[in-house]
Parts: sequence; C-alpha cells; structure tokens
Amino acid sequence: MYPDLNPGPRILLGPGPSEVHPRVLRAMATPLVGHLDPEFMLILDQIQRLLRYVFQTENELTLALSGTGTAGMEAAVCNWLEPGDSILVGVNGYFSERICEMADRYGARVRRLEQPWGAVFAPEVIEAALREEPAKVVALVHAETSTGALQPMQEIGEIVHRHGGLLLIDCVTSLGGLPVKIDEWGVDIAYSGSQKCLGCPPGLSPFTASPRAREVLHSRRNKVTNYYLDLTLLEKYWGKERVYHHTAPISLYYALREGLRIVQEEGLEARFARHRANAARLWEGIEALDLALHVPEPHRLPSLTTVVVPSNVDDLAVRQRLLNEYHIEIAGGLGALKGKIWRVGLMGHSSRREYVTLLLAALRDILQR
Ligand SMILES: *Cc1c(COP(=O)(O)O)cnc(C)c1O
Repeated sequence: MYPDLNPGPRILLGPGPSEVHPRVLRAMATPLVGHLDPEFMLILDQIQRLLRYVFQTENELTLALSGTGTAGMEAAVCNWLEPGDSILVGVNGYFSERICEMADRYGARVRRLEQPWGAVFAPEVIEAALREEPAKVVALVHAETSTGALQPMQEIGEIVHRHGGLLLIDCVTSLGGLPVKIDEWGVDIAYSGSQKCLGCPPGLSPFTASPRAREVLHSRRNKVTNYYLDLTLLEKYWGKERVYHHTAPISLYYALREGLRIVQEEGLEARFARHRANAARLWEGIEALDLALHVPEPHRLPSLTTVVVPSNVDDLAVRQRLLNEYHIEIAGGLGALKGKIWRVGLMGHSSRREYVTLLLAALRDILQR
C-alpha cells in the first residue's frame, strides 16, 4: 500500500509549470461530459474566443492542442513543412535549437541564423538573410526561456511577408504574461503552453494560424506526416463539422477555460503591468544582492529572469537549499548555460510581489552562509 498523495508545499518560481490558480484547480474537479457533448462544444467555442483575446487575433484557426508546448512546436513544424521545404530559424537558445531538430526530422532544409544565447535578432539581420535566400517559414522564439531574452517583434512580419514567407513564433513563455499581438505583428503561426503565464497545469498548447498560413496548409502536396497533430483533421473537430479525431482531455479544457477567464477578468493590460512590475522588483533586488543579470535591460524577459551564478557559488547547492529550506523551486541553466545561470520564472499566478520578497530574502540568507 502506498500513502496518500501528498507532495511537499512548493512555490513554483522556475521556468514552468508555474502555480495554478485555485479556481483552475477547482474547475478541474468538475464532472466530465463527453467530448462530443453539445455542452462541451459550447465550452470549446468559449475557449476559442478567449484564446483569440489573449493572442490578440481574429484568426479563425485558433485552438488548443492536446499536448504541452512541445506539441505546439511540433504542430507548427509538421503542418507547414514538407520534405525539401526551407525554414530559416533564428537560433539563440535551447528552444530554437529544438525547432531546428524537429524541422530536420520532417525533412525540411534548415538554415540557421545564429546569435549568442541571450541576444536577439534585429529586423535587418533577418531581412539580409532572406535577401540572400528566401524561406518558406521563418521561425523565432518570442520569449526564450533558456536565456531570458525577449525578441522584439516590430517590422519582422512585414519583412518575412515581403520575401514570400510565413512567420512562425514560439510564445510559450509570453502568452498571457506579456503582449503577444499576432495580427498586429503579422505572425502566421504561433503556439504556446498552458503551464507558463496562463497559470494552468501542463497539457494543452494554445495554437493559432493566419488565413495565409491556412491557405498554405491546404495546398500541401502530401498529407501531414504526423497524424495526432494534423491540423487539417483537428480543424474539423474545432470547426462546424465536429468530426472526432481524438478524445479531448476534458478536465484540462475545463482548466484552460477557467485560466483564460481569469486572464480576461484581470484584463490583458493589467496582467502585463503586474508581470512587468514584479520583474522590475526582482531585478532591482538581484542587483542589490550584488548578483548580475544575464540579459541587458532592453531585451530582458519579465516572465523569466536569468541570474549569473557567481564563480565562488555552488549552483546546485543553492537551488537545493531554496527547495529544502524555503520550498522554492527555481531552475538551473540549460545547454550552453548549464551551471552558469539560475532561471527564475514569474509567470501567471506565480508573478506575485510577496514571492519576489521571499525569494530575495531566501537568496540573501543562503548566499550569506
Ligand atoms: C516550456 C517551453 C517549451 C516547451 O514546452 P513544454 O510544455 O515543456 O513541452 C517550448 N518553448 C519555450 C520557449 C518554452 O519555454
């Protein structure tokens, strides 16, 4: 016999999952209806409308995929890239590397545009690369969780379109915490995740595609190679036809609906301001502890802060103490930044002033010892 499920109390200040709002947890305990029940169809419609609100888009093809952010990434890649198609990827962190890896597996011709981890791409750099050689898809990570850098989005959509391409963005760590203006920025394909700034459990990936992207999808030469993430089938479940494709994870959709309702109640602008204000408090406090921030101010990401681990400090020991003594989870670095940075997420329901104060006090205590 095993004991009751009772994991320790945790304050989730890592790169996700972030804390789930109690209202979302309660919504998940709602009794199930069938995934083709007329009442569930209404719930899907509401989720779709709420997603258009957070994505700031009119895109008809807007839905939440079953699967985490990585499923969204895979859907973006497998639905728009056929063998031999070209993709230009702005590579400046772990998740853009993952886009390259996926696109390669689907047989695309992957061109890498590189920047150091923590830096971002200027529009002119993208323009120059496309002038050299156009690409069917141009992919950028809006909020790079592995480095703490925020990619500015102005002008890029216009450039990509002028060169005949589609603009794809990863907004897993920005949607619901900072502005994601799909229509205004001219983004054609975007995916996110439920467990970061939306304050829901992991398991769903909000997704949107522009009418232009949809046309390209419908003019594919071959069927989409991935059945589970085939949007030409999924759009028939989310659209008027309501054709069965796979059983929707009902409880997760209840959760997402509640999480999105909370976003709408707070209002996008107020929510963005809260994320910015708490990040600013954290940055000020980190510098007051004589610690350095990895990303310079103009491109620093409010939802995820990267702190340089001082050379005389044991990265893992500090994180273990935070967890054991203060029940606070933060993360270490990934890939090239492993052992070099700490990653602190202030996302969704975790973006709270009292958590910033507590984390700074805990860090001060641990570092003094
Ligand atoms: C978390 C994250 C992902 C992957 O999402 P999973 O939910 O872990 O599958 C992709 N891109 C970025 C930028 C992320 O932060």
